[in-house]
Amino acid sequence: MSDWPSPAPSPGADTEDVLLAEQYAALRKQIPLMYALMFIDIVFLAVSSYDDIPLAMSLGVPVALSVAITARAGLWLRRRKVAAPPADIRRYLRGTIIAATILSLAFGGWGMVLFEQAEPQRSMAVALYVFVGTISCCYCLLTLPTAGRLVLLLGALPVTVQLLMSGDWQLIGTGANFVIVAILILRTMSTSYAGFTEVVRSRSDMQLERERARDAEQRAQELAYRDVLTGLYNRRALSEQLDRFGFRDRCSTHLALLVLDLDRFKAVNDVHGHPAGDSLLQAVVTRLTGIVAGVGVAYRLGGDEFAVIIETTDPDKDSATSLAQAIVDGLAAPFQVGGLVHHIGASVGIALVHRDAADRETMMRQADIALYKAKENGRSQYQMFEPRMDVEITRRSVLERALREDIASDAFLPFYQPIVNLVSGTIQGFEMLARWHRPDGEEIGPNQFIPIAEECGLVGDLMLKLLDRACIDAAAWGPDIMLAVNVSPVQLKDPGFSDKVLAVLARTGFPASRVTLEITENALIAEPANAKRLIQSLKSEGMLLALDDFGTGFSSIQHLKMLPFDKIKIDRSFVQELERDSEAYRMVLAITRLAASLGVAVIAEGIEDEFALGIVRELGCAEAQGYFFGRPMAAREAVEALRATGPTASALHP
Ligand code: C2E
Ligand code: CA
Ligand code: CA
Repeated sequence: MSDWPSPAPSPGADTEDVLLAEQYAALRKQIPLMYALMFIDIVFLAVSSYDDIPLAMSLGVPVALSVAITARAGLWLRRRKVAAPPADIRRYLRGTIIAATILSLAFGGWGMVLFEQAEPQRSMAVALYVFVGTISCCYCLLTLPTAGRLVLLLGALPVTVQLLMSGDWQLIGTGANFVIVAILILRTMSTSYAGFTEVVRSRSDMQLERERARDAEQRAQELAYRDVLTGLYNRRALSEQLDRFGFRDRCSTHLALLVLDLDRFKAVNDVHGHPAGDSLLQAVVTRLTGIVAGVGVAYRLGGDEFAVIIETTDPDKDSATSLAQAIVDGLAAPFQVGGLVHHIGASVGIALVHRDAADRETMMRQADIALYKAKENGRSQYQMFEPRMDVEITRRSVLERALREDIASDAFLPFYQPIVNLVSGTIQGFEMLARWHRPDGEEIGPNQFIPIAEECGLVGDLMLKLLDRACIDAAAWGPDIMLAVNVSPVQLKDPGFSDKVLAVLARTGFPASRVTLEITENALIAEPANAKRLIQSLKSEGMLLALDDFGTGFSSIQHLKMLPFDKIKIDRSFVQELERDSEAYRMVLAITRLAASLGVAVIAEGIEDEFALGIVRELGCAEAQGYFFGRPMAAREAVEALRATGPTASALHP
């Protein structure tokens, strides 16, 4: 048996080439066998006619034929071991047809001479040898029918004609049988060759079909792991890549996971529409892949969230932090897309595989926590995960649970901080500030719990509950003392906000004209149209409006003009810096001038000493608030403070 591998067509091979290869494979097995049969036949013929004919015919011709077929057989035996390209195979096949023609002519001619010269009783045997020999050769050439037909015709025809022309009925009958057999063989050869080509073709078609199916599957796989918009790998690819990392056995390779989130991307989407957002994302990806090229691989996790994996043999974190810094810097530069210029940025959280991260989920969670921290710290920066962040997050979720439980109880109470009129020197109102006294004695400040309440959607309920209580408390203050209430940006997203506030006032019988709403610029940006409508409806009920924390955020005149503000509250950070920082002084000066030009009163927050008070009074602030006048206090203390200062006594000298 040949050890030649089955002639599997190479991908995309032409069917004709496949057919050639199959023909070649079959012939390489059959042709040596064919020559062996022919050799045996020649020997028999030579021996059987040895006495009857001249030596040249009985020995010379068979020897010459044997030499020729041995040479051809040797040639084909060598080919058994060698692969051949289609062009070579074509040449071999042509050679075989020529050789078949020449050898059959010689064999047929020799057979004719032997038949003629043999003893009459032997001539039948000669005819049979010649005919059977040609038929067997013809069978060996089934896969090369041209050669097969030539062999049959040229090899067997001469003796057959001789038989038919012999005049002896017995011989004529044999000749006629030969003709019938030859016709049958020729037909069989045609159908078997057609069957052979059919099998090869369908095998090749099946192979092609299989390849197509494999390609389609590969493409589908590729799609499943790619983000359609940007072409980056997706979240699924990231998860699988992290899983492949094998966290248990991580001595030799180190892995850093960077998770990044675009800053201010939502605004682009909201203002310019999704197509502009998509184009921007594509531009971001082009820049991002440029930055991480050669260092890591970028993934899109969805929306404006991306990730980068860095695999490194270097255990220290410098490669991760320097890449994170490069990403922060790179994405902070403006993007020019479709005639628009976008100023966005990116915040990055980093998690490293070392003792902390034992699996994919932990690593992704740690990177997310670090990202959250980076955003909390003011965006456009990176943050490396640290175990204490986990503690913070855990505390946050504990607080969230406690907040949900305590909101129904009396754990939340309003405290009141006096706001003093700098002209009359008397308390003219109180700002309501929320206080949380946990049942276990812990006191938690609003800077901690208000953001949590905002995030879990409880700030609205909490504020209404406190307002309800404050309206009852403030009823004892006197008819002119104002109640200032902080409004969270989240509350202004609730379309029912103003109705809910008015319902509380109606229930407690507290006049709207004694309420000042304190809102920050953030609230005006988050949902400007809704905020404006809600505030205006409350303002039309007689409430006053103050712009809180002015100077810390956008400090935009635009925002001041958006709504009919009655007051501006200068943020306490400026007031507290007045003594040390001339910049703070200039800021306060600018705000008071701006307010004067708009006809809006100014409240200075955070007055802690006489020095600050002197300056804000000199700059024309109408009201002031701060520890100098009083810290946020319980309802009972507020009443006492009012009684102590009274409408005639001054609050300026507590
Ligand atoms: P805010 O509206 O700017 O409130 C003033 C904050 O400054 C209060 O902190 C107050 O205690 C503090 N403060 C007053 N005078 C001084 C001073 O002389 N020196 C210093 N260092 N601080 C002073 P608090 O009560 O911790 O409230 C923090 C923030 O929490 C508030 O800032 C406000 O934004 C928010 N908040 C408090 N209560 C509520 C509430 O009921 N609803 C909403 N939405 N937010 C609230
Ligand atoms: Ca306030
Ligand atoms: Ca404030």
